[in-house]
Amino acid sequence: SIPLTFFSGIGFASKNGVLIKGSNYLEALRYVDTVVFDKTGTLTKGVFNVTKVNAVNVSKDELMEYAAYAEANSNHPIAKSIVKAYNKNLDLGKIGEYEEIAAHGIKVNYNGKTVLAGNEKLMKANNVKYTPVSETGTVVYIAVDGKYAGDLVISDEIKADSKEAIAKLKQIGIKQTVMLTGDNKKVADAVAAELKLDKVYSNLLPDEKVEKIEEIYQGRGEKEKVVFVGDGINDAPVLARADVGIAMGGLGSDAAIEAADVVIMNDEPSQIAKAIAISKKTSRIVW
Ligand code: ADP
Ligand code: MG
Repeated sequence: SIPLTFFSGIGFASKNGVLIKGSNYLEALRYVDTVVFDKTGTLTKGVFNVTKVNAVNVSKDELMEYAAYAEANSNHPIAKSIVKAYNKNLDLGKIGEYEEIAAHGIKVNYNGKTVLAGNEKLMKANNVKYTPVSETGTVVYIAVDGKYAGDLVISDEIKADSKEAIAKLKQIGIKQTVMLTGDNKKVADAVAAELKLDKVYSNLLPDEKVEKIEEIYQGRGEKEKVVFVGDGINDAPVLARADVGIAMGGLGSDAAIEAADVVIMNDEPSQIAKAIAISKKTSRIVW
């Protein structure tokens, strides 16, 4: 077949919903041997549903109220699911000082009380005596004025084409697929097993995601390239560090789209194998 030029390669990719921000990235895609993914919003839909409510020392309604007010000002998909499950009007005037702590959760003053909503890291950092919950789901622990008030289990779904996307990458010769996530080990391992990923790292802070990418770079040849695929504000530093950063353009955050070298318009992970395939068919015309 006649090789596409880099110029028409970029045009062809864009017609297929893959925006490539420069011919150097199209070129780099040809040499990718490792594809690293974020989990939430990238391999999973990033649309959570509350599946369990376990109130301790307060009523279920009160627990949901604390949780909803804590999450009212957050754009995180976890927050949206909790506000949706509460399903009542929120009086935002009742919310005082508010802090969103990346990869931990929320600390907020609600009705004069300090409410924490987040993972085990958040509870530990605030010396809350909580009961660890073992569920295949993301657990949001709630504490009010330092006292444990219960937990919510929320679940996300794997995107319809994620499994095929990973299989396709293997078919076109990608050596290693990896997932990095701030979510808990149980959820991460279940997703990795379902998708047949080669490696999985869980409970990561945003900085630790960058460290993992650095680890992956250790002792590698110059030629083989690493792709990172992500969607969140937290993913921007990793997107910038990878040889080729790929962002989900549909539900992805502006910061991720900005930091990325390639943008997948329809959020389907199978587009990554397509982009690599296009780059392999493309060659520079030497005059
Ligand atoms: P991922 O790496 O899967 O995209 P994040 O880094 O956004 O996930 O978040 C990691 C973890 O931090 C979540 O699984 C959750 O436990 C906690 N977390 C983050 N934001 C919130 C929030 N708004 N409310 C509760 N928990 C949160
Ligand atoms: Mg994410």
